[in-house]
Amino acid sequence: MTHCNFYINGAWCEPAEPGPLFPIINPATEESVGTVAMGGKADADRAVWAARAAFDAYSQTTLAYRTEMLHKLQGIFERRYTEMAQAISTEMGAPWDVAYDAQAECGPGHIKATLEAAKDYPFEVKSGNGDLFCEAIGVCTLITPWNWPMNQVVAKLAPALLAGCTVVLKPSEFAPLSAKLVGEYMDEAGYAPGVFNLVYGDGPVVGAALSAHPEVDLVSFTGSTGAGIAVAKAAADTVKRVVQELGGKSPNIIFADSDVEAAVALGVVRCFGNTGQSCNAPTRMLIEQSVYERAVLAAVAAGAQVRVIDPTQKGDGIGPLAMKRQFETVQRFIAIGMECGARLVLGGLGRPDGFDKGYFAKPTIFADVSNDMPIARQEIFGPVLCLIPFVDEEDAIRIANDTPYGLAAYLSTNDKAKARRVAKRLRAGNVSVNASGNEYCNPFGGYKQSGNGREWGRFGLQDFLEYKIVNGL
Ligand code: NAD
Repeated sequence: MTHCNFYINGAWCEPAEPGPLFPIINPATEESVGTVAMGGKADADRAVWAARAAFDAYSQTTLAYRTEMLHKLQGIFERRYTEMAQAISTEMGAPWDVAYDAQAECGPGHIKATLEAAKDYPFEVKSGNGDLFCEAIGVCTLITPWNWPMNQVVAKLAPALLAGCTVVLKPSEFAPLSAKLVGEYMDEAGYAPGVFNLVYGDGPVVGAALSAHPEVDLVSFTGSTGAGIAVAKAAADTVKRVVQELGGKSPNIIFADSDVEAAVALGVVRCFGNTGQSCNAPTRMLIEQSVYERAVLAAVAAGAQVRVIDPTQKGDGIGPLAMKRQFETVQRFIAIGMECGARLVLGGLGRPDGFDKGYFAKPTIFADVSNDMPIARQEIFGPVLCLIPFVDEEDAIRIANDTPYGLAAYLSTNDKAKARRVAKRLRAGNVSVNASGNEYCNPFGGYKQSGNGREWGRFGLQDFLEYKIVNGL
């Protein structure tokens, strides 16, 4: 049993006012594996003031010092890598290969990308008749979700530290174990007290207090669009910078001139990866009418190959959903899909065969989905794929963009000119052509209600900087 408490001003501590503990439930077994101390307003306040007190000295350290510290932190992430993979697998149910190869790797990966970006970043440059200084924005609140916990924490933490900001991290109450390790790594690296603070708590209490706090200069938020809106409203009265990385309902356009079976199979695997709990999952597969029935058969064949496995098992497969709430949401959407007339071609309600406990859901595919059905409009965040036919290129672009979201988009075609033409018209921050992946040095973020701002590499660094022009030096 692990107990997760706060790290404020360089020391581990309990809430100012003891309250009920939040259970850490292993989603594969539904058993409690520990407890989380849940903070209140007073704890948020304590953490912000610790960060404020540390800001003057930390922000005036040299770039060389902050670079050296970040290198040290990277070394600790690498040395304690297996522990991190274990924590992530336990708290949110990622199967071992996913936790080890993908989830845990995001920590050192983002630190490396930040260090690389900083090498030639124009922190001080001549601008007209003056000098332009890019300086730490100040005290930053980092609010993160549970689905890719180290991706989201470190994509914010590394650039904040490099820029000279001090931070208060409020991780998801559903991913406390990995965040606790981050606190331990920061402590081991020897950052000065107050540079990094960690407070657990729920969104409406601690998240809201950290978003509204007058001593916070920036809130970097990743999570659902609804919570992101609440954060922006809470931050508005004190005119903070707010960076939002929110939800998605990403299209995956399969043109008839692509290698249809291969493109469909990969689209299925990508949609179901991390048990469908990725903001950029390609959840709406748009298929050209002339190859539609072929593609449906290919999707079912590929979906049937996706194994549901216990997270402790090695090899390919998907684990349970991360929590009961998510399991119930997924079941509700599967029922809605059936009620609103979509054709269920794989999976359906209930747990897969062989599982009588744990939040395991069946990989599920609906064909003949129309883009106005709730399963095509709302983020389900589970292994549920919608197949939607389209008539021609114009129709594909129209359906792809007909969503409040704009995080990612995918397309497959063997016609390079068409790929470029369509990619330019898709209203999404990340477009993947023919299965290409993204790298840490590239911007990650969304159009429309998928967010504001960009993370990763030099784009992430920009968010944590203020720009000062000094004339006459
Ligand atoms: P969530 O919005 O429920 O919670 C995210 C974080 O916000 C948690 O720490 C939570 O405690 C906090 N929070 C909730 N309400 C708040 C409030 N009113 N004020 C301040 N903080 C609040 O999301 P989740 O279920 O943890 O994560 C899944 C969501 O995150 C999905 O919508 C997914 O698409 C999105 N996401 C987006 C990205 C991206 O980069 N765009 C990446 C990962 C996840």
